[in-house]
Amino acid sequence: MKLVQHQPLRLAAARLLVGAGASEDDACTVADHLVDSNLSGHDSHGVGMLPHYVRAIAAGLLDPKAQAAVEDAGGAILSVDGQNGFGQVVAKAGTALGMARAKTMGIAMVALRGAFHIGRIGTYAEQAAAQGLASIHFVNVVGHAPMVAPFRGSDARFATNPFCVAVPAAADHPAVVLDFATSLVALGKVRVALNKGETLPEGTLIDATGQGTTDPAVMYTDPRGAILPFGLHKGYGLAFLCELLAGAFTGGGTVSTVPYEKDRITNNMLSIFIDPAQLPGAAGLEAQVAAAIDHVKASPPADPDLPVLVAGEPELAHRAQRRAEGIPIDTTTWEQLIEAGKSVGVDFAL
Ligand code: NAD
Repeated sequence: MKLVQHQPLRLAAARLLVGAGASEDDACTVADHLVDSNLSGHDSHGVGMLPHYVRAIAAGLLDPKAQAAVEDAGGAILSVDGQNGFGQVVAKAGTALGMARAKTMGIAMVALRGAFHIGRIGTYAEQAAAQGLASIHFVNVVGHAPMVAPFRGSDARFATNPFCVAVPAAADHPAVVLDFATSLVALGKVRVALNKGETLPEGTLIDATGQGTTDPAVMYTDPRGAILPFGLHKGYGLAFLCELLAGAFTGGGTVSTVPYEKDRITNNMLSIFIDPAQLPGAAGLEAQVAAAIDHVKASPPADPDLPVLVAGEPELAHRAQRRAEGIPIDTTTWEQLIEAGKSVGVDFAL
């Protein structure tokens, strides 16, 4: 394990992305997003994705110059084609448009399709929350072999389809940001476990024959296994609705209609932005949110060392710790970053 500071890591990640063909601005957007994911404790969506992005650019699956193409009829619904550009760039652009429209109309929906991997979804919810907006995001993944089995199924039929909802900060309480993959774990966490030589908890994975296993390698063999959805039929139901809302409603497609290609990760995201200031009950809203947070957190912890948290707090705690102590990067990921740098003529050394 190597401990690295976030500032030099941002610079190295941005250099590598420029070497791979991104503009300086876009490279900084992507690098900041990835390093902020590491800072937030989500290494699965951190700089460890860079070797994949470099491979996808070389294969012509990710266009490092592409920008969001917007269809806007001036109403509450905007449509954004990510044109296989960096997801972090085109989703940020779509989020900015949705936020602006929600501020004028009270509510807006952005249907983003065809973005390369958009990374950690909480990033977009945090961008909205920072402007005082609540947001809801349904995401699906296509172009990539499916990796999650439906409840009662024995093989993969869709992806880790993340779901995210955030409510902005209220009366000295930070924003509540619930952001998770609808699979028991994100695929990136399986990769991190494999790179670290760790196993996953029982009940998380099935192998290619449909039998339970703790070995992350089953997701990287052919034929491969599957991750199970969280929460039995309930998580499966939410995952499937992500497939429908993000895939069918945006026009980006679902796993059943989009063919897969090695190294492609296409995300579609249906986002809804809400301006709470325009709600009829806006006057008392902040106090209501703050009181609800205080109420749940006052529950005596079952384990005194594990106090009740609300969503978003673990990421804030990780950021404080990793900004101070550095970001841990495992040796395999580090070697992959050095190799990815070499492949585009960039020295990844910090
Ligand atoms: P996770 O299981 O770590 O859950 C994270 C969520 O749970 C956060 O909202 C966190 O604040 C909350 N949380 C954690 N502990 C808590 C506690 N004790 N009390 C209250 N809330 C708590 O997340 P994950 O499923 O591993 O997903 C990780 C990341 O992967 C997410 O950011 C997600 O957006 C991203 N992802 C992206 C894609 C993609 O295609 N782009 C696919 C899958 C996942």
